[in-house]
Amino acid sequence: MYTDINQKKDKKQQTVAVIGAGIIGINCALELQSLGYQVTLLDKEGIGLGCSKGNAGHFATEQVFPLAESSLLWQMPKLLLDPLGPVSLSAKHFVKAIPWFMQFFNNMRPSLRAKNTLAIQALNKNAISHYQILLKKANAEHLISMQGSLLVFETNEISKVEAMHQHYQGAGISVTLLDRTETLKLEPNLHDNINYSLFFTDVAHTIDPLALSRTLADFAKSKGMTFQQAAVTNITQSASNNGNGVTVKTEQDSLSFDYCVVACGAWSKELLKGLNYHLPIEAERGYSLSLAVNEQAVPLLSRPVASAERRFIITPMDKILRLAGTVEYAGLNAPANYRRAEMLKENARFILKTLPEQQSEHATKEESWMGCRPSLPDSLPVICQAPNHDKIFFALGHQHLGLTQGAITGKLIGQLVTKKKTEIDVSPFCISRFN
Ligand SMILES: Cc1cc2nc3c(=O)[nH]c(=O)nc-3n(C[C@H](O)[C@H](O)[C@H](O)COP(=O)(O)OP(=O)(O)OC[C@H]3O[C@@H](n4cnc5c(N)ncnc54)[C@H](O)[C@@H]3O)c2cc1C
Repeated sequence: MYTDINQKKDKKQQTVAVIGAGIIGINCALELQSLGYQVTLLDKEGIGLGCSKGNAGHFATEQVFPLAESSLLWQMPKLLLDPLGPVSLSAKHFVKAIPWFMQFFNNMRPSLRAKNTLAIQALNKNAISHYQILLKKANAEHLISMQGSLLVFETNEISKVEAMHQHYQGAGISVTLLDRTETLKLEPNLHDNINYSLFFTDVAHTIDPLALSRTLADFAKSKGMTFQQAAVTNITQSASNNGNGVTVKTEQDSLSFDYCVVACGAWSKELLKGLNYHLPIEAERGYSLSLAVNEQAVPLLSRPVASAERRFIITPMDKILRLAGTVEYAGLNAPANYRRAEMLKENARFILKTLPEQQSEHATKEESWMGCRPSLPDSLPVICQAPNHDKIFFALGHQHLGLTQGAITGKLIGQLVTKKKTEIDVSPFCISRFN
């Protein structure tokens, strides 16, 4: 019987490469460094500069329902035909995306939807409390705001709002249905169009997603983690146990580690293909528009406000209001269409009475951004030990919820690497479901 050389080494000598410095990779790196491993975080761009940079900053633990929903079937044609609508599919990308859409449609089956909902609920349950612990340790609690969030409705058909209310309550979400007067008490700057809202009381937001990534990465560095800017081209696990287990090839170097975690978000497909795993991932591109606010004036919002009809969200952040949303299927490398970001401002005029540009002549600075959500057709991430490579782990595919599920994913990867019992059942997140 052979002895695993990695088990003989003390953890302080054991090395881990975490590939991808988005919010997922950073959380994995921080957790593993805290557990005593010597972690190297690698990224082709820098820390937090991928999809984790310009997102809506919403710790959206109420979003427990998979995106594949049968009502989308009849809405899709209308949605897709409008080039500036909330969902767009580029004609060039259409054929490539067909296999992903076939699997997406398959996941609309009620039995799969129910199963996937349970898996998302389990991940989201303690997602915020894990961040609170980390941010307390990092002295950065100011980065998280626990004000809840609102889903606002322009419709005056109360039955539609009540149905949505019951849907969330049925999934165990803390939510209150508010009429217009009650809604305005929470957010006085909401437009006259708003008739009802759902108030999610247990959710949170960050005032700066990039600062959150950088703060957690700095905290990991203070514990000994190192960061290396490098594009990883290939990963292999050696067949023998006589040395380090994993070779990570970058454009310049060949590096050896005991373990490796792949957390490359929407760019993960090629690295996994090199290891013989199929990953049906789509870049679900989304846009945001950040509007500078007049800090001297009354705050325009206190918490994230999402529009049920217009399908976007407005989050108050540090010195800005960030409008975010939309889904565009155009592949990883197509140029951004920033008209989709500008369109968010047109929609915001129906949700807010006052926009930053009306607040003062100084508040006119705007910044558009596009990010690639790493989306799998069942709306579940992949969080697992690679089935045929015991030194390699995957933490990717967190679609619309990567910020929300970052800290819990780091925790689970720590438990998998140390072979401890995971705090939730991770079997629904194994890559074997696609292989
Ligand atoms: C408009 C918009 C709004 C959103 N709002 C929210 C929200 O409110 N709440 C929420 O929970 N989620 C939200 N999301 C989703 C969230 O942003 C993503 O799920 C999350 O950022 C994914 O994190 P990640 O670490 O997996 O990927 P990324 O942040 O994209 O990180 C992956 C990293 O891997 C690096 N990389 C890739 N390939 C290689 C390689 N070969 N070698 C080295 N490095 C590599 C990249 O450079 C990148 O830095 C939103 C997304 C968008 C687009």
